[in-house]
Amino acid sequence: MTRAFNFCAGPAALPEAVLQKAQAEMLDYEGRGLSVMEMSHRSDEVVAIAEKAEQDLRDLLCVPDGYKVLFLQGGASTQFAMAPMNLTSNNHTADYVNTGQWSTKAIKEAAHYCNVNVVATSQGDNFSSVPAFDSWRLSKEADYLHYCPNETIGGVEFDFIPEVDVPLVADFSSSILSQPLDVGRFGLIYAGAQKNIGPAGLTVVIVREALLGNAIPATPSMLDYKTHADAGSMYNTPPTYAWYLSGLVFQWLKEQGGLEAIARLNQAKSDKLYHYIDNSGFYSNPVAVNNRSRMNVPFTLADAALDKEFLQQAEERRLLNLKGHRSVGGMRASLYNAVPMAAVDALIEFMQDFAQRRG
Ligand SMILES: *Cc1c(COP(=O)(O)O)cnc(C)c1O
Repeated sequence: MTRAFNFCAGPAALPEAVLQKAQAEMLDYEGRGLSVMEMSHRSDEVVAIAEKAEQDLRDLLCVPDGYKVLFLQGGASTQFAMAPMNLTSNNHTADYVNTGQWSTKAIKEAAHYCNVNVVATSQGDNFSSVPAFDSWRLSKEADYLHYCPNETIGGVEFDFIPEVDVPLVADFSSSILSQPLDVGRFGLIYAGAQKNIGPAGLTVVIVREALLGNAIPATPSMLDYKTHADAGSMYNTPPTYAWYLSGLVFQWLKEQGGLEAIARLNQAKSDKLYHYIDNSGFYSNPVAVNNRSRMNVPFTLADAALDKEFLQQAEERRLLNLKGHRSVGGMRASLYNAVPMAAVDALIEFMQDFAQRRG
């Protein structure tokens, strides 16, 4: 068996060592005669797995006291509604920055629950940059400011954390755990697991405790952070197997040297690919240099008529899932934590070869 290199934006590559451990434990977890999948979420085994995963995640991100870490379902898309439902009881207003398709979706959803003030947008340059912070028109009465630190589709990443007086809310779906993060600057962080955490079906939420218990009156129990915070994310049946697998990824990350080490590797991977693209004379990336994503690298070929052939030949070399998002076309290579440098090297080698033959 040889594993392919997987550049999928999500569900994305998982560390091979994690899959092997899961495989070894699949039928008989630690001599219990059961798979983790078959165990009660109230069992000692699953509670221990859940607690260890939470502690490892807290260790990796150095989560300060006063924060709840929640393991939920519904994906980041459910957070687009949960954030405004839970946080806008005071002034019914939220500030949003629009840097691409995920921000746009978050804005649209929030507008069902509160007044949304778009403080800045990069729509004018086709979402290829982050609007300069000093141009943002912040409202005085906002209950929070929301932004998307890494726009997975456009490949646009913030190179700063906004400095605001209101709670900061961030959709970290595609860049959480890619580098150290000062969690204390945020009121609420959320991330769908299937990019840089684990398998699909799990959503990680990190929320400041002081923000809990103030949801708008019609909020369903399942969409109230306090419900899950009070119940240790076991108010109802959580996605136990996804939680377990994510825990294995957290252990793997610790073994890699934690977030500083993985950040150095992520920087080196994306630097190498952007450097090649910029000097190729055949491929290009439209994003402002300071805002280029380390996780998602979109690129186009000099002639879009060659896209199909490029993808077909890439697949033959077992370089998978390089097709850009259906809304933007072109290519996209996602370089999450579990994508090794060898994958980037193999991709560049193929791109070089293709450009020589077809350029
Ligand atoms: C993938 C993604 C989403 C949507 O996540 P789901 O878990 O599918 O709801 C939202 N925001 C960002 C930044 C993403 O990358």
